[in-house]
Parts: sequence; C-alpha cells; structure tokens
Amino acid sequence: MNAVDRPEVVVDLAAVRHDVAVLRARVAPARMMTVVKADGYGHGMVEVARAARRAGTDWLGVATPAEALALRAAGDTGPLLCWLSVPADDLAPLVAAGVDLTAYSPDEVAAVVAAVSRAGRPARLQLKVDTGLRRGGALPADWPDLVAAARAAEEAGTVRVTGIWSHFAAAEEPTHPANDAQEAVFRAALDVAAAAGLEPEVRHLANSAAALLRPSAHFDLVRCGIASYGIDPAPDVPDAAFPGGRPDLVPAMTVRAPLVLSKPLAAGDGVSYGHTWVAPAATTVGLVPLGYGDGVPRHAAAGVGTDQAAEVLVGGRRRPVRGRVCMDQLVVDLDGENFPPGTPVVLFGPGRDGEPTALDWARACGTIDYEVVTRFRGRARRVHV
Ligand code: PLP
Repeated sequence: MNAVDRPEVVVDLAAVRHDVAVLRARVAPARMMTVVKADGYGHGMVEVARAARRAGTDWLGVATPAEALALRAAGDTGPLLCWLSVPADDLAPLVAAGVDLTAYSPDEVAAVVAAVSRAGRPARLQLKVDTGLRRGGALPADWPDLVAAARAAEEAGTVRVTGIWSHFAAAEEPTHPANDAQEAVFRAALDVAAAAGLEPEVRHLANSAAALLRPSAHFDLVRCGIASYGIDPAPDVPDAAFPGGRPDLVPAMTVRAPLVLSKPLAAGDGVSYGHTWVAPAATTVGLVPLGYGDGVPRHAAAGVGTDQAAEVLVGGRRRPVRGRVCMDQLVVDLDGENFPPGTPVVLFGPGRDGEPTALDWARACGTIDYEVVTRFRGRARRVHV
C-alpha cells in the first residue's frame, strides 16, 4: 500500500464511474439519477457529481436546497432534483437555477408559485405521492388535491410539472409485501395524474435496491445512491434474486491512517475510557489517530448488537479495535507484534487486500454501511483519486 502520513478518506472516482456505468447498463432503457446528498454520502458531492455525469448519469438528486445550489455554483447545469425544503428556504434562486423542486402538498405548490415572479422563469416541479413509506409526500387520499393544484399552476404558466415520484420502504427485502403494495399505489397515482392532464417527463420510484432487484419499478428513471458508491444495497439477498446476477460494484471509499505508536500491555491492563476492555493476557496495542470526531462509530469495540469488535488491517492482518473509540483516536490489538510509527492502518475499503469493508464495520457497530461512509465528513483529509 502507498505510504500514509496522515488520516485520509480516499475516494476512488474511477470506482464511482464504474459503478454508475454498471447501474446505467442494468436499468436501461430507464434513465439514471445519481443521489449525491449528504456530501455524496461522505464521498464529496461535487467530485462525485462530476464523475457520475462523466459516466453518463442523466440526473443528480439531493435533499436540500443548499446542496442543489452548491452543485449549480460548481458548474453543474444538468437535470437536478431537490426534495426537501423547509419554510426558511428561499425557493426563487432554485427556480432561477432550473432545479426541479418537489411538492408534497397544495401549500408547497403555492410556495413555489410565489417564488416564480422573483425567479423570472416558470418553476420545474415534481410531485411526490406517499405510497407507503409514511414520510414525505401526499397521502393517496390527498393526492387528487395536489395534482389539481399543480395542474392549475401549470395552466397559469407558472409551473411545469416535470415529474411524479415516490420512495420505497423495504426495497432491500424483495419479498416484503410493502413493495407490491407501493408499486400498485404508485400506478394508481399516475393514473389520477394522467386523467387530470399531467404529462411529466419522468416517473420514478426505485432506489438502488429496487433498481437492482425490481425491474417492474424502473418506470422512466431510477434514483441510485448507495450503489453508485459501490456498496451493495441488499447484502443479505442471495445472488439469484438479482435479475442479471449480483452486479459487480466496486466500493469507492477507503479510510486509512498511519499508526502513531505501538506499546506492550500487561495482562489486566484496561484500555481507553472506562476500561471497557481489559487485556486477558500480555499483548501489544497500537494507536490510530482517528476517532468519533472524524466519523468512526464510537461503538466499534463495544460491539453494539454483536460480540464482534470492528477490525482494521495492519501488517497484512485484521486486528480488533479495543476499548472505547475516543474523539480523536482509537486503540487496536496488535497481538504481541510491534510496528513502527507510520505503518499503514486501513479501517475499511473495497476489501480487495483483506481489509474490512464498510459493511463489516456496520455489522460490528450495529448500524448500516450507509451511515458508516456518510459519517466521514469531518477532519480526516479527503483525497480523490
Ligand atoms: N431517493 C430518495 C428520495 C432518497 O431519500 C434516497 C436516499 O435515501 C435515495 C433515492 C437513494 O437511496 P439508495 O441510497 O438506497 O439508493
């Protein structure tokens, strides 16, 4: 491995391009949205957006207006959907920048209409129906009112309804009954919209898991977040359940740091705050300059929901994290070996050289790999390669 002289989050943009291309080929002729919210799931929003556009993604998707405007400020001019504004947000700059906004209610349509005169151009507006996640979107009973409000704005020339969409609750469990139910509700909502005269450019329902597991849910466009970063959205689902097989995705993020020191421990020595781990026998430990202030889950060694501590790769072997993860540092068990300061430590990566993956860390920490990668938005230097 290359020398590591400080903590680093290395993001392999070639992997992102590969993953986006694999996903695009899978879902064609449906179009592809790459979801780059939360700083590109911790990978760097602008850099990932550029890589995804290069690999042919048609749309970008973000949660917040600030994210959408940051992409425009970075020079992105392509189709871009934003789905979560709050009352404090000024929508006029988004309308002016040609960002597709999302309305969940007639009040939100009115807020967009109110921004149009200041923006100087009609708004591009997508409508969200709540097909079963019970998060954002109009409930099916309220959907005709949302459609009517949007259609009226369209007839007034203030708004163009560009999309209709919804979001799955359990797409990573392909046999979950919610999937069929949500798809049926979505189709009914599309019928209501069509009967009211709406002709959106894109109808979309699928996230990464549905893009890979449920072709019937592709419609015109799929919204892939986690799979665009090379992370399997349904790791517990057998290969045979993926039409076309499990895709060849390459994880883009590697988190690594130099070892700061190693030292001997006597049997009975407690490690880190609270001495939650006590050495059962003499050993050596190493200090790694990454902690929860950088994004490392604090429960890495406590093994929340599991007895398995998270592991790191040092000297060609996986070594367990011991004691509580601190704000800036963590301790690993070197099992009697000593390594010089500067020895590379890999927390997780693609797994090609024996290092743990983000999924391994998620399982050891009682969370999901989405959270593991998205947390690395702090101090550790992010390097795009
Ligand atoms: N669409 C919406 C509305 C989302 O909130 C997200 C992310 O949570 C996605 C798509 C992408 O989901 P995934 O990362 O599972 O592909």
